[in-house]
Amino acid sequence: MTRERLYLFDTTLRDGAQTNGVDFTINDKIQIADMLDQLGIDYVEGGYPGANPADTELFSKERDLNATFTAFGMTRRPGRSASNDPGLAALLEAKADAICFVAKSWDYHVRVALETTNEENLASIRDSVTAAKQRGREVLVDCEHFFDGYKANPEYALACAKAAYESGARWVVLCDTNGGTLPHEIEAIVRDVVKVIPGDHVGIHAHNDTEQAVANSLAAVRAGARQIQGTLNGIGERCGNANLVSIIPTLKLKKEFAEQFDIGVSDDQLKTLASVSRKFDDLLNRAPNRHAPYVGDSAFATKAGIHASALVKEPQTYEHVPPEAVGNRRRVLVSDQGGRSNLLAELERIGLPVDKSDPRIARLLEEVKEREAMGYAYEGADASFELLARRILGTVPDYFDVEQFDVNVEQRYNALGKRVTVAMAVVKVKVDGETLISAGEGNGPVNALDVALRKDLGKYQKFIEGLKLTDYRVRILNAGTEAVTRVLIESEDEAGESWTTVGVSSNIIDASFQALMDSIVYKLVRSGAKA
Ligand SMILES: [Zn+2]
Repeated sequence: MTRERLYLFDTTLRDGAQTNGVDFTINDKIQIADMLDQLGIDYVEGGYPGANPADTELFSKERDLNATFTAFGMTRRPGRSASNDPGLAALLEAKADAICFVAKSWDYHVRVALETTNEENLASIRDSVTAAKQRGREVLVDCEHFFDGYKANPEYALACAKAAYESGARWVVLCDTNGGTLPHEIEAIVRDVVKVIPGDHVGIHAHNDTEQAVANSLAAVRAGARQIQGTLNGIGERCGNANLVSIIPTLKLKKEFAEQFDIGVSDDQLKTLASVSRKFDDLLNRAPNRHAPYVGDSAFATKAGIHASALVKEPQTYEHVPPEAVGNRRRVLVSDQGGRSNLLAELERIGLPVDKSDPRIARLLEEVKEREAMGYAYEGADASFELLARRILGTVPDYFDVEQFDVNVEQRYNALGKRVTVAMAVVKVKVDGETLISAGEGNGPVNALDVALRKDLGKYQKFIEGLKLTDYRVRILNAGTEAVTRVLIESEDEAGESWTTVGVSSNIIDASFQALMDSIVYKLVRSGAKA
């Protein structure tokens, strides 16, 4: 049986950017777009060029993605021609493969928010789609408040959708903007829509205000829609958008959908889902949701007892899908089997294959468990994990030894009589029997320590010349009885390769120092530096 193609459209960088407390830099956006691209998402909506400088800059250059890179914006304003609307002009200038217009489809909003006539709103949709088509763009139209609009005035809501489709929009996206529509209503309304617009041109954009954005998206697909819009980890305004991290495995692993549809995410890409979800949380500097379906730490965890022993023998008895399929793992507290195979797979992945029966595997596993209990997070710190594994397997040379460091923060008046805070660090490093002392100044103690540490590493200096820190994140955790600080540092080298290291301590400087050290040593290992 040939399967139908179902398309995934990610709006993390546009609608997700509306989330309370989320503020993406342009570098964040580029990094997330790459993550989405590698996951196999069909459309990546980057933002709203013209609305803020970061989004305008994002769309000032071609982005090298397999996904259709999409710019979001408004249809032409009422009472203006398409050629005389600066907002529309900026959107058409954007370096994007596709343009997603947002358009009113509820007559009430046309009257109250746009303050124009129903007919002028339809003309605005038609003109905007036509203008974007003429510029060679693929066009999508997000019909805002479509479901509420349909309930109030079905003829007009449909007229808006038809205006978009008939003017050449590739996709007419039905939006549950207020997020209050229920799955059975979505299914019934989408069934009506696909009678006039072919389902393979209809998309769904659901918000999560009744916690049914995922269910609503699936209901729309059942009724005939063939594009789903959503975000990573369901971020978005208010209660969020449809969570693609839950939708993707459902489409891939649940028979009803898997037999009928193909999506752009391959089985191998699906296996990266848990790590994508986690990396995204790290980037937002927020703790991952342990109970997130499919990808959370608890999603496949079973406490000791009858369930656990049955689970070890026959995993399917208590699991709705295999955890490995989404890159998660079984956690059974009476056995380390799940952890062990995961660890072996990880070692294999980083090019350190070890024999299954090697006793050092058990030691490494023990060490990881102990350290994770202390607050270390190795899933978000690939380089620190690799170093830990290499150390236990005996393949990390003793490059240098930090004998002592000193960090000093001083607040005083400068020569101009202004109060300033200055941080200074002095580091004493032993390389090849020689003691090197370096001092550094920084805008904070960690920065000063980093400057001093990397100032002079003797014969290793040439390997770390191109090393730079690209991100520094701090989280206070409750591990056991006391609060500890976890520091994650992201570094990059001259070749653009990046890695993350972790440090944990009750003292933030100490935690930062561990992560800095790991980053430098990792770079030396990767560069093949000899002790
Ligand atoms: Zn939305």
